[in-house]
Amino acid sequence: MQYEQRNWQRSVTDILNVLCFLPKVSMSSDMNLLYSYGINNKSGFFWYYLEEYAMKIGIDIGGTNVRAGLVDIEGRVVDRVSAKTPSNEEPERLIELIISLCGQLGQAESVGIGAPGLIDHLNGIVRISPNLPKWRDVPLKALLELKLARPVKVANDVNSIAWGEFLFGAGIGSKDMLVITLGTGLGGALILDGKLHLGKSHMAGELGHSTFIKNGLSCPCGKRGCVEQYVAKNAIIRIAREKNPELKEVDPEIVAKAGHKGEKWAIEVYEEIGDNLARVLGGVIQLLNPDRIIVGGQISKAGELLFSPLRRAIINEIQPALRETFEIKKSALGNDAGIIGAAFLT
Ligand SMILES: [Zn+2]
Repeated sequence: MQYEQRNWQRSVTDILNVLCFLPKVSMSSDMNLLYSYGINNKSGFFWYYLEEYAMKIGIDIGGTNVRAGLVDIEGRVVDRVSAKTPSNEEPERLIELIISLCGQLGQAESVGIGAPGLIDHLNGIVRISPNLPKWRDVPLKALLELKLARPVKVANDVNSIAWGEFLFGAGIGSKDMLVITLGTGLGGALILDGKLHLGKSHMAGELGHSTFIKNGLSCPCGKRGCVEQYVAKNAIIRIAREKNPELKEVDPEIVAKAGHKGEKWAIEVYEEIGDNLARVLGGVIQLLNPDRIIVGGQISKAGELLFSPLRRAIINEIQPALRETFEIKKSALGNDAGIIGAAFLT
């Protein structure tokens, strides 16, 4: 375990406050007092406590990789391991892998998992998952709690990301926020009144498959004209080819690179994506009056190339009284948001 020595003093005082073990020891503790309780070396009781219980494990099950991290009480990933996702295998294979990754990370008080698809958040059941075709109604929480003998939480991956950003990232200080992830698709999650808002079937915030254009482009979900066909990866590729038919290879990163170099066609691609996204987010702002919208995922890495046209366009999608009431921010935790948020799921 790579627990950093330089952080130990602050973490120890956090633990003490949480435990109320020494109620008179404040955050600005007199370290001499702490030393007297035997915490001046890593073999003391408190080091045992820190290593054994204060850490949490967060796991992000992605389409390609399962990434697991040991997360400290301040939301820092202090150790990490990963392995290829056994996508097309029976659930037992992934469960074994999760147990093995937890074993590699060492002791932790709890385990949280973010998985794609329709997840019963309260009972920790994976209903269906696009990346795990053989998974249907798998009681992941119950199975893992039996094997790991510690509390396990399971949530939708975008909900985990949103929770991570809310607690430790671009959502700090927010109360009502929407988080979207832009990549292959468009994922969404809502925090309302400081709580993850799940909705009746735990699908709240999923904007990607609402209709953007009637009878529009076909979508893998079976519908036509879904939003994600107009704002996510496929849209960037399609619009880029329309703007610059000579392109041989094209993906969002190549277009972003060209845009940052000032190439007009590439700037126009992200302007169109920003316009489309603004139309979708305008309705959300009118409906929920959030204080923050956080955009993450691979495509958000384009930065201001995407955010400038989005901010410009969104003004025209909402009534004047709402224009100064929210911020649009880029994800602060990047790829770690899912691990951190999963570790702190409640
Ligand atoms: Zn769809």
